[in-house]
Amino acid sequence: MKDIKELDLKGLEGIFTKWGEHPFRARQVFSWIYKKGALDFGEMSDLPSDLRGKLKENFCILSSKLVKKVKSSDGTEKLLLELKDGNFIEAVIIPTEKRITGCISTQAGCKFACSFCASGVLGFKRNLSSQEIIEEVLYLKNNSQGRKLTHLVFMGIGEPLDNYDNVIKAIRIINSPATFNIGARRITISTSGVVPVFKKLSEEGLQVELSVSLHAADDKARSSLMPINRIYPLKDLISACREYINQTNRQITFEYILIKDVNSGLQNALKLSKILRGLNCKVNLIPSNAVKELGIQPPAKPEILSFRDYLEKAGINTTLRRPRGEDIEAACGQLRLKHEKK
Ligand code: SF4
Repeated sequence: MKDIKELDLKGLEGIFTKWGEHPFRARQVFSWIYKKGALDFGEMSDLPSDLRGKLKENFCILSSKLVKKVKSSDGTEKLLLELKDGNFIEAVIIPTEKRITGCISTQAGCKFACSFCASGVLGFKRNLSSQEIIEEVLYLKNNSQGRKLTHLVFMGIGEPLDNYDNVIKAIRIINSPATFNIGARRITISTSGVVPVFKKLSEEGLQVELSVSLHAADDKARSSLMPINRIYPLKDLISACREYINQTNRQITFEYILIKDVNSGLQNALKLSKILRGLNCKVNLIPSNAVKELGIQPPAKPEILSFRDYLEKAGINTTLRRPRGEDIEAACGQLRLKHEKK
């Protein structure tokens, strides 16, 4: 049985034409799934019953199961999904006053083994298909309590640029007015710095936001936090970012997790301001979640604020992200880790 989410609108229209159905029925089906959140063809009451039957025989809507849902006191909600092969992934809903952001995974596990991240602890299992990525969005939409999902960040488990084709295919479908209609500018791809793929991404003509996880401003420190730095050191990464900015005319956001006793001193802020000088960029500071399994702690508030103030004085546009979901293990991969270790 084929997953219907593999198809864009044109693809389903083609199948309906072959079946001798009106192609406009495809738009109705899309509206049921992506706008009304229907998870069963039987619910599609404005379709003829024989067409509903044919759809049921040939297609499925869901391939994964929602196995756990945990809600933080700040409203952040984490969904644990079991894929059809028994792997687990996470998707998170992060509500604020003005927006509802969905954070989605792109791989089951991760091969990049960043030292502050729980996603890589159990190693890499496999890439998610574009349908599985879209399915996460479907779950998030259906669990957002009637509020519209406004933004999406590819910041969950896995490295999106290591699953490039499926991620780009999923983004094009998610972005389409016939499905979730989430504008490309409201979609952020977050990467640990898979340098060779930056050029390809800059040529896609997609207006997505690019966010680069930096987390340290010298090679020694970055390599110990992020092993990918040994393959693509800072010089190559920053130069790929510069080319990306020139090609797309878009700003890059650099993510910087502040970890106590690791990268949060003013000497680190000085190095960071030096390597970013002259780039059209923004820095997003993220106090780390406390992850017992990895032995990491966030710095104290005054240290966080001094770091931010230093960057701002150096002329770098800096934001400080509020930690979210601390009481539900919202750091990437924590819930999955706990579940799989049971
Ligand atoms: S931070 Fe991203 S790239 Fe690094 S281990 Fe976690 S999921 Fe993988």
